[in-house]
Formats: sequence, structure tokens, C-alpha cells
Amino acid sequence: MTGAGLGELARLFPPSAEVIDGHLWIGGCDANELAGRFGTPLYVYDEDALRAGCEDLADVMRTGPPGSRGLFAVKAFPTVAMARIASGAGLGILCSTGGEHAVASAAGVPAEDLVLHGNNKSEDELRLPVGRLIVDSFDEMDRLERLGVAADVWIRVTPGLEAGGHEFVRTGGVDSKFGIPIRRVAEAATRLSALRGVTVRGLHAHIGSQLLGEEERRVEDVMFPVLRSVSEAVGERLGELDLGGGMGVPYTRDDPEAVSPAETARRLLADWPEDLAMILEPGRALVARAGVTLHTVGTVKRIEGVRTYVAVDGGMSDNIRTPLYGARYEFLLAGRADEPGNAPLSPVRIVGKHCESGDIVASEARLPGDVHPGDLLVTAATGAYCYSMASNYNVVPRPAVVLVRGGEARVAVRRETVDDLLRLQEA
Ligand SMILES: *Cc1c(COP(=O)(O)O)cnc(C)c1O
Repeated sequence: MTGAGLGELARLFPPSAEVIDGHLWIGGCDANELAGRFGTPLYVYDEDALRAGCEDLADVMRTGPPGSRGLFAVKAFPTVAMARIASGAGLGILCSTGGEHAVASAAGVPAEDLVLHGNNKSEDELRLPVGRLIVDSFDEMDRLERLGVAADVWIRVTPGLEAGGHEFVRTGGVDSKFGIPIRRVAEAATRLSALRGVTVRGLHAHIGSQLLGEEERRVEDVMFPVLRSVSEAVGERLGELDLGGGMGVPYTRDDPEAVSPAETARRLLADWPEDLAMILEPGRALVARAGVTLHTVGTVKRIEGVRTYVAVDGGMSDNIRTPLYGARYEFLLAGRADEPGNAPLSPVRIVGKHCESGDIVASEARLPGDVHPGDLLVTAATGAYCYSMASNYNVVPRPAVVLVRGGEARVAVRRETVDDLLRLQEA
């Protein structure tokens, strides 16, 4: 656990990151050597950091009432390697599709440790073996009845809370495609209880993502009364309450320090009913900081009096978060990580290689003024929702995922090839 030489950026990089003779090292591996060996763009993850975050959360949840559990929302980093790490640490896996269910199953996660949510599950998805199924709509109840699915379920509640870092990651407001409004939850529970083989175990809420303030996590205050009234309606105490995920992380030096999922769990459990299982399901906060992306700088255009464009060998295909959410990041050059990024005199914009002006990695970035072709660009805190949202736009193959630990690097996902993509073309 070092962070040596990273200064105020240390908290944004994996805990094992350090600068040695100007080179960035992660997990005992020189980032420059990783780029040479595996190519760029490349997703690099600190495996110990992934494991530690999961273990910390699982340890705290074990101190909760029976049935309490942490789940890893696998959509943040949907790889077999990560599902295995999370499951091995004692977390269940939250899946939102059959594909994610397949990734977790391929990792050997038993069905009872899988939870499936989603606002429009297919019939095939509803038939998948899971420990808990999160029911999201009345149409879904019709489908469950028609299919005769037997399942232990939670009901997804729309708690009427607006929270989250960006409109697109807010899910808890009244105007939402997710969940069932509070005033209809008792009706939903009654209807579900009447289905043969279906047992309502509890309620579920997830109000949004990238929540940084403690005050945003008031979802429990809203959910306790709902839980009581629904229990009365069905004449049975519901013993499980899932408060969702959404814990935020800092992406830039200006962002506030984050509260870890384990700390959040500890705070909630300090004042929690003894007979109610608590479930939390973070994604981002378990993986974001553990991952960085390596890109090679290919072209630098200095447009006098306007700005400098620094183009890298990926972009919106490996990180859509800037175009999609206006996300902000911090950067280093891996081969000269000890040279400070200057607050740009003429603004520096980091862009990708795609055919869109919106293909922006960072609208304004701090980089050494003489950044040039061949420099290895490191983007911090790209461990969540970058690999998982990657695309093949412009028929660009998706990067490899490498896990580093104790000086060893192993490929978790191999680099896609153009042949992989051509294989699907039938014409
Ligand atoms: C995406 C999602 C999560 C995880 O959100 P993070 O912001 O990554 O923690 C948890 N629960 C549900 C229902 C989700 O859709």
C-alpha cells in the first residue's frame, strides 16, 4: 500500500500504485512494460484492491442480522475473474440480465448466491435459477404466473427520492422506469403472495449511482414504513430489506472523499432492527479505483489560440462515460509520472480515434506541456462502467483486461480481434 510519488492523486489510483524512477507501477508491475507486453488500450486492475474491498464489505455484513449480505453489482465490471473474486470474498452477485447471470455462473457462483433484477426481463431470464428475483412490474407478475416460475422474490420499490450524480444514473424518483411506486407495493405483494411457488421475502430499492453525500442515503427512512405496511397487507413480516448500491467514488482531485461500502454498511448496521436482514449491492465503489486504462498517445494537434488536441488509440469505445455523463478524470503519463501535469495554459483536450467530435476522453486535462506521440497515457479510476460499457464503434476491437498482483500480470479478458468481429458477419 504505497501511493508513493502520486501526491494528491494517490487516492484516485489503485492502492498499490507508486512512482519509481518516473514510471508508474501498479501491483508490482511497470505500466510501461504492461503496455509493451499486452498492447494498448489496456484495462489494468489491482487484484488485491478488488479483493480487499469485497472482503471488507463481506466482513461487516457478517456482523448484521441473519441473512444480511453484500452483493456485487456485476454490471460495473462483468468478468468471470471479478465474479470469482467477489464470490470468494463472501459476496453474492447482483445480475441485471441473462448475460451477467451467465458470467457469474461461469465463475462457479452457485444459483442461490445470485440475485436478478431488471425492469424488462425476458421469459428466459425469469426462468434462470437464482436465490432472489427482484420483481419490477405488474406485467412481470403476469409473466411469472403464466410461466409458473417458483421463486423467492423482493419487490423493487420506487421510493420517490431523487439522488445521483447525473440524470441518467438517477433511478429512485417518481418519474422512473424502475420499480413499483410506494402506493402500489402492498397490492404487488398481495398479488405475488397469491402465486403458487412465489414467496415474497422483502423489498428492494436503489435510488441512483455516484451518490457522494451521506444525506443522499436516506432510503432506509422511506423504506421502513413501507416494509411495515406491506407486511401488514400480506399478514406476514417481510424479513429482508435491500437498500441498493450507488456509493460514489472520487474521480478527480476536487471530488470529496468517498465513504466505502463497508463503512456505509457499518453505519447502517449500528442502528438497524435485529430481526431484519440488510442487503447492500454496490458496484462502482468496489471496482472503480482498482482499475486504470492505458492508452498510447498518437497525434498531438496544437491549434494556436484555440486548444491542443491529444488523440489516443481508443476513446469512446473503451470509455463512454465522458460523452454519456460528462464524467471527469485525472491523468498521468506512465513513462514520466513524476512530471507534474500543468494546469493547461492553452486548454488540452484528450480525444479518441473515433469518428465523432463527441469522442472526448477529457474536455480539459492537466498533462505535461510537451506531451507527444508515444507517451503512455494513464486514466485513473476507470475500473467501473468502462469495460462494461465498451463498444465496437468503428469496428474497433475491445481492449484486454489484465489483473496485476505481486509483480505478476494475468489476462482476465483477452483482447478482441477484428476476426472475432468478422465471425458474426453472415453476408
Ligand atoms: C447498477 C445498480 C447497482 C450498482 O450501482 P453502483 O452505482 O455501481 O453501486 C445496484 N443495484 C441496482 C438495482 C442497480 O441497477
